Amino acid sequence: MSEPRSLQQAILYFSNPDNCTQYIAVRRWPDGVTCPGCGSDHVSYNATRRTWKCSTHHPKREFSVKVGTIFEDSPIPLDKWLAATWMVTNCKNGISSYEVGRGLKVTQRTAWFMLHRIRLALQGNPMMKLGGPGSEVEVDETFIGGKARNMHASSARRRRLDATGVKGKTPVVGILERDGEVRAGVIPTRRRGVL
Ligand SMILES: [Zn+2]
Repeated sequence: MSEPRSLQQAILYFSNPDNCTQYIAVRRWPDGVTCPGCGSDHVSYNATRRTWKCSTHHPKREFSVKVGTIFEDSPIPLDKWLAATWMVTNCKNGISSYEVGRGLKVTQRTAWFMLHRIRLALQGNPMMKLGGPGSEVEVDETFIGGKARNMHASSARRRRLDATGVKGKTPVVGILERDGEVRAGVIPTRRRGVL
């Protein structure tokens, strides 16, 4: 499979749904496709629907390449997601939401959302969400750092800490997938939506 070399090539390449499916599949399952539900490699491909079906009987045994990825529950079509991902990973000097918006013919707001999500994904395990069937995820938060009142009143950090509602500490959230990976990061506020 030849990689697209320019944005024009990338847009053309990803306008073919079979290319999109193959592009993700070879990255997601380098050792062959496995069922996201039970992990079995006894799966059969339906080329018309571009889905696989697990030979074991269980709920959601038919799955697409999007299941369990950041692309799963998005109204943005896969060709735009992949072209944007291609832009993020191939433009060495960074890329703005305006450029992505123009290039992919989406609004700047949509482009901003896509870039945000793609960059987050690329910092961790590319494209994959934590959890899934039969997998438990624990989330906990903690507070680290000194007290805001000990900082200079003009300190930007102090103002930021006060804005979190936890006087003087930086909130950090950790997410653990049982028998899986751990992710942790500073969070701007402790509101439910952010968590
Ligand atoms: Zn299965």
